[in-house]
Order: sequence, then C-alpha cells, then structure tokens
Amino acid sequence: MSRVVVVGGGVGGLSAAALLARAGLDVTVLEAHADAGGCASTFARGGYRFEAGATLPVGFYPGGPMDTLGRALGIDWPIRYDPRVLTVHLPDGACITRRSDDARWDERRAKFGHAGERFWRWQEQTADALWDFALRLPPWPPQSARDVAAFVGMGADWLKDDWRGRMNPALALDAVRTVAAHLRGAGERLRLFVDAQLMISAQTTSAHAVALYGAAALDLPRRGPGHLPGGMGAVAQALADAVARFGGRVLYRHEAARVVLQSGRPIGVDTRDGERFIADIVLLNTTPGDAAVLLGQEATPRCPADGWGAFMVYVGVDASVVPEDAVLHHQVVAGEPLSEGNAPFISISPAWDATRAPAGRRAITISAHTRPAPWWELHRTDRVAYEARKAAYTARILTAAERALPGLRDAAEFVLTGTPVTFHRYTRRAGGWVGGFPQTSLLRFRGPRLRPGIWLVGDSIFPGQSVAATALGGIRVAHAVLETLHLGEQALQ
Ligand SMILES: Cc1cc2nc3c(=O)[nH]c(=O)nc-3n(C[C@H](O)[C@H](O)[C@H](O)COP(=O)(O)OP(=O)(O)OC[C@H]3O[C@@H](n4cnc5c(N)ncnc54)[C@H](O)[C@@H]3O)c2cc1C
Repeated sequence: MSRVVVVGGGVGGLSAAALLARAGLDVTVLEAHADAGGCASTFARGGYRFEAGATLPVGFYPGGPMDTLGRALGIDWPIRYDPRVLTVHLPDGACITRRSDDARWDERRAKFGHAGERFWRWQEQTADALWDFALRLPPWPPQSARDVAAFVGMGADWLKDDWRGRMNPALALDAVRTVAAHLRGAGERLRLFVDAQLMISAQTTSAHAVALYGAAALDLPRRGPGHLPGGMGAVAQALADAVARFGGRVLYRHEAARVVLQSGRPIGVDTRDGERFIADIVLLNTTPGDAAVLLGQEATPRCPADGWGAFMVYVGVDASVVPEDAVLHHQVVAGEPLSEGNAPFISISPAWDATRAPAGRRAITISAHTRPAPWWELHRTDRVAYEARKAAYTARILTAAERALPGLRDAAEFVLTGTPVTFHRYTRRAGGWVGGFPQTSLLRFRGPRLRPGIWLVGDSIFPGQSVAATALGGIRVAHAVLETLHLGEQALQ
C-alpha cells in the first residue's frame, strides 16, 4: 500500500488527505500547530472562539466544491444559508449589501444605476462558465503532454455544453485583459466597490485582476454563502475526522523539517523533533517557497513582491453593539489604497452560535491587507516601534469598523491583534504571506506536481485562495495522485 505523508493540515492538505485515505492509501498528516485549518482555523482565547483568518464559508451549494467533497467523504456540512452575505460601506456614505438571491439585482440598480447592470451581467455569465470549468478539475497549468490532452478534452466538453455562449471571442479575451476593461463608463462608485471586493477575493484591484478570474472571484457571495456552527474551523475539523475515519491519522504539533529524497523520489519526511515518517508520496500544503526549503532547494523561502499579509484584530464585545438581525460581514472602505487598515473586513459570530462567545457577547474578527516586509523589519530592529505600529493600525481599524458597528470600541472587553509575524508563527507560511498569488495572470498558478512523488496543495495552485478553492485544489491533487497509481476513478466515487 502506498504511504502518503501530507505536510500541513490546512483545507487543501486535509481535503486531499481524506480522499486518499478513503481510496485505501496509508495517510499521515503532519500539522505543526495544535489545531487544523491554518488560515481557516478557529481558536479559543478569553472565553471566545475567534476565526483566525477566513470567516465567510462559500461553495456549499449542491454541486459546489464543498458539497462534492462532503458527498465523497460522507460529511453533511451543517451550513446555515444566509442570502444577505455582506455589506460594503463606501466613503460616500453608501451601504451596499451583497445578496445571493434575486433581490441582488434591485440592490445593484438602486446603488449603481443601470450603468452597472451590464457589468454584473458580464460578471455572472463569465463566473458561471468559469466555475463550471473549474469543477471539472482541469490540470491547470498543464505540466505534461497528458495534462495538455486532458485539458483540451475538458475544454471541448465544456464548449459543447454551451456552444453558443462559450464560443465567444470576448471570453477568450478575458483570459488576458483585466476587469477594468468591463468597468469603463460604469462610474466611480462601482469601480471602488469592485476594487474593494476584488482585494478580498483576488488579492488585487480591477486595474490588475485578470478578467476571467476576477469575474469568478466576485461571484463568491453567490456561491452558497452561509454560516457554520462552531465557525470556519469546523471545516478543517470535519476533514481531519474524515482522515481518521478512513484509517489515516492527523498528528498535531509535528512540524516537518525536510523531505528525504533518494534518487529524486521521496522516501520520508523528517520532523523538527527528529522523527522520520516513511513515505512514497508527499503532499506539501505550503507556499511554493516553503516547499522549496523542505526539498532542500532553497535556504530561505521566497514570497512574491506583490503578496499580501494580514493585520488582524480579534474583538470580544457586549452583544448590545450588534443590532438584532444585523448582516454578519461588513467591509468598510475608509479610503484608498485599499490596504494598511483602509478597508477592513469585519465578521461577527452569529447570535445563535453559543460555542463562539460567552452568553451576551459576540466574537468579532477583523482583517486588513498589509505588506509583510515592514512588520518583519520592525520586529527585527525595533520592537517598540513594532508595538507602536500595531497600536496605530488597531486604532485605525477600530475607527473604521465603527461605521458598521457604532459603539464597538466602548463595547470591546477583549482585543487581540496579529501581524504577518503572528501569521507566520501560526501557519508557518513564508513571511506571513497569505491569500495566494494576486490574480494578475492565469499563469501565476503553480502546477501541483513538483517532482516525481511530490505534490503541492493549497492556495498557490489552481483555483487559488478561499476554503472552497483550496478544497477543489485538494480534490484535483488527490485525483492526480490516484491516477499515477492507476486508481484515478476512485477519488470522488
Ligand atoms: C485574513 C484572511 C481572511 C480570509 N477570508 C476568507 C473567507 O472569508 N472565506 C474563504 O473561503 N477564504 C478566506 N481566506 C482564504 C483561506 O483561508 C485560504 O485560502 C485557505 O484557508 C488556505 O488553505 P491552504 O490549504 O493553502 O492551507 P493553509 O491555511 O496555509 O494551512 C497550511 C497548514 O499547514 C501547516 N504547516 C505549514 N508548514 C508546515 C510544516 N513544515 N510542518 C507541519 N505543518 C505545516 C500550517 O500550520 C497550517 O495549518 C482568508 C484568508 C485570510 C488570511
């Protein structure tokens, strides 16, 4: 029986691990931290359970990535759908709620006028086509002649399914032009709204986001959004349970230090504590830079110059600050650039989820894009300035968040902050880089096959970041691994 070691218990690693265990392989997941989930974990502090990073679960709709994975693994996700997904607060005073139901069109007409309608029709049609393609698990980018043949075959089937809509030169053009091409003449409010939403879903703005990916990323609020009892960490926990149920194991506080190679193939993984886990197949749920270090190709991991880190504020509040029937996610745009605390994303634990906060309280997670390098520089050279910068960011973010939740600062009984340095400590991601590659080109995705027997999973492979996308990437890699063992049919059956 093939022995598989998965380094990292993020959503990508655990999705692949559970499917491989289910197919009968001997699977061990090594997770450095005490909990599963990485960027999508939920942690306990001060009587609350806070989302560490990811807060908005999507992809649970019938036929969606999480539904497909759940059905294969026997997981019945306890998702509670909510059509009012998130509210964006713009500097001109407008509050625009993104909805997953038909009422979204009225909201768009009221807030962006008819000029925006053409944009949203393009966005939804393009997203439908692209999500349909992504769910076929295309080997993107192709890494072999076999991948090219599979990709072309899938492309032909995809075209056949909607010949008229998809044999459209504009769709091909969207693979190389940016979202901005579709925003000309649509007005400044729509441009800023789209930019703010793209920052959280594609890690870049309309001037740089490739149109195909941007359309699909903007669609996340329409892709089965809801709330999970226990928070986002419940996804990773259910996947870890599935690994165990199918005979595998997830070992916490086991940090991998290197992949042991013989004649270019893996024979094991060594941990920092000096244990060796024998393996014929290794999956690395890491950034490409961290994978290169584990493979002995580089001494220090690299992350892209335009990659983002996250500044986090975790707040425990008196529940009276949250209006009854409030929308639970908000993005407050205080100004541009949409980073460094200017456009924080605020998520509130549901009133019905007693596991997340003490009675009469709510757990709030606020995230903001930030460049990692200055944090590391201050952390290395001047801890006082590092702490002062943290305090300044926290104040700026809480001030902005007051627009969504007036009285938040006074109602806060617990405040905890995190920088890219913190993210690195808890996820081991190079430099605290999160969110995968900013989607400026479809060619930025890494191919998952790193060398014979060694695979990359997580948000650096297609289709990129988000819990749903990394799960889809995990399904794709599990499928590809099983194909190399001539067990390809077993991944999702
Ligand atoms: C602030 C923030 C907000 C987000 N919001 C959302 C959202 O609302 N909705 C959404 O769907 N997505 C969101 N995302 C994105 C989503 O969280 C990520 O795309 C996804 O969780 C990444 O999964 P991954 O498989 O790449 O693994 P990661 O989350 O990177 O996890 C990797 C795991 O591997 C472990 N590990 C790494 N190296 C080693 C080693 N050497 N040995 C052992 N273990 C190791 C780490 O401890 C970690 O547990 C957000 C992300 C962030 C940062």
